Amino acid sequence: MFETVLIANRGEIALRIQRACRELGLKTVVIHSEADANARYVRLAGQALCIGPAAPGLSYLNRSAILLAAHLSGAQAVHPGYGFLSENADFAEQVEAAGMSFIGPKPESIRIMGDKVAAKRAMRAAGVPCVPGPDGGLPDDPARILEIAGEIGYPIIVKAAGGGGGRGMRVVHAADELLDAVSVTREEARRAFGKPELYAEKFLEHPRHVEIQVLCDTHGNALWLGSRDCSLQRRHQKVMEEAPAPGIDPALIRQVGERCAEACRQIQYRGAGTFEFLFENDCFYFIEMNTRLQVEHPVTEMTSGIDIVREQIRIAQGHALTVRQSDIATQGHSLECRINAEDPFTFMPCPGRVSTWELPGGNGVRVDSHLSSGTEVPPYYDSLIAKVITHGADREEALGRMRVALSEMRVEGIRTNVALHQSVLEDDGFRAGGVDIHHLERWLAARRTS
Ligand code: ADP
Repeated sequence: MFETVLIANRGEIALRIQRACRELGLKTVVIHSEADANARYVRLAGQALCIGPAAPGLSYLNRSAILLAAHLSGAQAVHPGYGFLSENADFAEQVEAAGMSFIGPKPESIRIMGDKVAAKRAMRAAGVPCVPGPDGGLPDDPARILEIAGEIGYPIIVKAAGGGGGRGMRVVHAADELLDAVSVTREEARRAFGKPELYAEKFLEHPRHVEIQVLCDTHGNALWLGSRDCSLQRRHQKVMEEAPAPGIDPALIRQVGERCAEACRQIQYRGAGTFEFLFENDCFYFIEMNTRLQVEHPVTEMTSGIDIVREQIRIAQGHALTVRQSDIATQGHSLECRINAEDPFTFMPCPGRVSTWELPGGNGVRVDSHLSSGTEVPPYYDSLIAKVITHGADREEALGRMRVALSEMRVEGIRTNVALHQSVLEDDGFRAGGVDIHHLERWLAARRTS
């Protein structure tokens, strides 16, 4: 049982994790770069250690500096947050080898799910519905590659087994484009991910992005906490999320949720995780599992009443989950707008000094943010500066509360995408619910020409 947790992350999630630790009576240690020395959560932490300069490679990705900080501070557990080292199996292994608890899955689970071919094979074996396509990777033989693609049926998507962040993928519409696409993607995969293995699957043309949150303890209990819809994306980056996914038959969601929980039991998964699916024509197709906390976890917290970060920590302490599947019901509807320090038209990041920072509040409004007036948004990291989350009895109420919340938000000194969210909230397609993953890009293209 640990008493001191090192938070190996920055920004809003560092504060989110710190809050959960403090609620549980745990001591906190934050590591930070020189650029984050004045952050609010650094001041609030039990201990703070500067581990290097601003560049992520020298600080938040610097495994030996983080492990040394853990050793010096007396931390007995490490929470990796999201991004940075959160899905690095070697880091998880090093943390455990140093005698500390890694607040996340076992390193083997991270490794399997980080290999998309292995992940898909494991999920198919566990009965989770996957995108049509063969289980294994693509062979070298061109004739065989053409044969496989023909069996799937065009359009197909060629993807890197080790890919991530929306990179290392290529859509192929006809056989005459296939071999070139394979060789370019293979080269890209080799360079970007150090692993040339590719696989192919059916390319779905108008899917939604729907995901299932799971939580598993080390006593064989696995729960699914409902669905989230993250279809509003720009360049594969989620912009707004909601729970539950609107307009999908709850019985269908229950079916896939139960499959996800069963898959977790089979692979003896530990902690929080997310099964990501494409959803088209009333069918779910697994694309990948994220073996970590997600940015959008609050919409599930608001609708399930479960504090996911608190549960992650308790699971790592060896506790059994206190709720059962039958205790979990989706209550109302929740939305999350990701507020970024960026221009709402060009999407150029806008770091700088925040002179005014006024946040919304009120019934059903939650803001997760580490910023305060007078602080700097550094240029070195992700531009997420706040998450505005609303909850209502139904989607309409959550949307209404979001409109009011965004209108109360006042940020000066830097530009933000608040205005973008405000216009999207008025879009008829979005208001109706259930848009596909290309909706926002189409909407942005129409905005450019109007
Ligand atoms: P990454 O780990 O890089 O995010 P994913 O496998 O999650 O890769 O895919 C990222 C995005 O690519 C998806 O959200 C979706 O927009 C698109 N995509 C991936 N696979 C398919 C597919 N089979 N059909 C259509 N779009 C796909």
